[in-house]
Amino acid sequence: MTGDLLAGRAAIVTGAAQGIGLAIARLLHEHGAGVALLDLDQERAAEAAAGLDGESKVLALGCDVTDENSVAQAVERTVEEFGGLDIHVNNAGITRDASLGKMSVDDFDAVVNVHLRGTWLGVRAASAIMRKAGRGSIVNISSLSGKSGNPGQTNYSAAKAGIVGLTKASAKELAHKGVRVNAVQPGLIRTAMTQAMPPEVFAEREAAIPMRRAGEPAEVAGAVLFLASDLSSYMTGAVLEVGGGRLM
Ligand code: NAP
Repeated sequence: MTGDLLAGRAAIVTGAAQGIGLAIARLLHEHGAGVALLDLDQERAAEAAAGLDGESKVLALGCDVTDENSVAQAVERTVEEFGGLDIHVNNAGITRDASLGKMSVDDFDAVVNVHLRGTWLGVRAASAIMRKAGRGSIVNISSLSGKSGNPGQTNYSAAKAGIVGLTKASAKELAHKGVRVNAVQPGLIRTAMTQAMPPEVFAEREAAIPMRRAGEPAEVAGAVLFLASDLSSYMTGAVLEVGGGRLM
C-alpha cells in the first residue's frame, strides 16, 4: 500500500525498531512522510530505518521515552532534520505481567513509566512544536486491555486506560490550536510482545475474537495512518479499536 497522503509531513514513531511501531513507521513513510524512528537502542532503530522503502527521509534515533531530556532531544533533532513535526506516534511499550500477589512495585512502576509517563512526555514535547505551527496530529497507542482490564496486567491495564484519559484531556487543551490527539486500542496483535505469551493462552484469546484470528502489525498501522492524515481532520479525542471485533 503506497500513496501520498502524508507528502511533505514529518513524523516521529517511538518504539519503532520492531513490531507495531516499525509497521507504523513503514506505512507513514510509504505514504510520503519523513519518519524518525525512535527506540531505546539506536542501532536497532537504524537497522529498522535502513529496511524502509520510500522516497522521503528517515532518521534513526536512540530515545528512552521515560527520560524527559531524551524525548526533548529526539524531538529537537527531528525538527532540525525535517524542518517541523506534523505527526507524533507514542507507541513504545513493555509488559511485566504477574498476578497482584506476585507483581513487584518495580514491575508496576516500569510499565506505568514507559506507557503513561512516556506518552505524556511525548504529547508534551510534540504539542509544543505543533501548537506553534497551528497544526499536528498525535496518536497514542493504548490497548483493549485498558478498556476491559486483563488479569495479570493490573500495571499494563491501568497505564493503557490512563492513556485514554491523557488523550482526551490533551485533545481538549489542544483542539483550538489545530492539534488533534487520538488513540488506538489494538487487540491481540502478532508481535514479540504476544509471542512471549504461553501458546495455549494465545490460542484461547484468539478463539474469543469474533474474526477468529490475531491481527497483524500492519492492520494497526492502517488506523494510525488514518488518524495521522487529513482523512480524520474532524476527529480528536477519539479512541479507535483495532481488535477484530473483540470486546465491542
Ligand atoms: P514490541 O514488539 O515489544 O515493541 C515495543 C518496542 O518499544 C521495542 O522495540 C522496545 O525496545 C521499545 N521500547 C520499550 N521501552 C522503551 C522505552 N523506554 N523507550 C523507547 N522505546 C522503548 O511491542 P508491540 O507488540 O509492537 O507493541 C507496540 C505498542 O502496541 C505497545 O505500546 C503495546 O503496549 C501496544 N499494544 C500491543 C498489542 C499486541 O498485541 N502486540 C496489543 C495492544 C497494544 P526493546 O525491545 O529494546 O525493549
